[in-house]
Amino acid sequence: MIILKIGGSIITEKNSKEPKVDYDNLNRICEEIKESFSSKNINADLMDGLVIVHGAGSFGHPPAKEYKIGQPFPNEEFPEKRIGFSKTQLAVKQLNTYVCNALIDHGLPAVSMQASSFVTTTDKRIYDFDLDFIKNYLKNGFIPVLYGDPVLDEKYRMAILSGDQILQYVARFLVSDRVVLGTDVDGVYDKNPKKHNDAKLIEEVNSIEDIIKMESTTNIDVTGGMVGKVKELLSLAEIGVDSEIINANHPGVIAAALQNKKVKGTKITKI
Ligand code: ADP
Repeated sequence: MIILKIGGSIITEKNSKEPKVDYDNLNRICEEIKESFSSKNINADLMDGLVIVHGAGSFGHPPAKEYKIGQPFPNEEFPEKRIGFSKTQLAVKQLNTYVCNALIDHGLPAVSMQASSFVTTTDKRIYDFDLDFIKNYLKNGFIPVLYGDPVLDEKYRMAILSGDQILQYVARFLVSDRVVLGTDVDGVYDKNPKKHNDAKLIEEVNSIEDIIKMESTTNIDVTGGMVGKVKELLSLAEIGVDSEIINANHPGVIAAALQNKKVKGTKITKI
């Protein structure tokens, strides 16, 4: 089984104040997935197992930020928070509709799976996640499509569950063969490459120490940015599931990664 994460930075115009889909990227990526699945280069066993997880980009982050979903709040603010939760859930569901629409238009049997309907967290970490639905869809040749979503949290009452944590959990418990994470930079750098021209690409990350030095230079969005991704992926590497972070803005890179060809990026692996 392969898990492909498509960053919100790729399928939306992330810095837009209004929710905006990047249709050029979305359609191109659907073509690359389609091409990879019909390619004879792919091992037949892998063809019946693709899970897609996508981020929220300019759809989810504005309402989540506005209502500070995931941060502690006094009881009297609960009614307002609830509205924020509902608005965030609706916004990311709308993006998911666009994504599934594009996949289906490309002949890919996408089925949407809304985490807030079957996942709860405690202290922002997943503790209840029914994987049977995903397994059954996979068995039947569907492509389950999950996405970052607000969820009920035991400690904070509500939290934002990132696509990155979903990917980590699904990869861990369905024992994924490959994990590919497409974002808008070539991989993990020693500092934010969007802010520093001299940032150097790190081709392999093996330990938490490798990322501690990144912490101070990273853009932290509501779900943790690049550091959050690497932490999730390192926890997978610990149990022997390797992953790679690649640049999904570059045409052909997702197709190559899905077909197990070598691409520029960062490998997260344990030595
Ligand atoms: P996505 O929406 O694709 O999941 P994010 O926007 O959450 O991605 O994270 C990717 C962003 O992280 C990059 O656009 C980059 O600006 C930022 N970033 C911050 N620090 C680093 C770093 N050390 N290496 C790579 N990217 C970094």
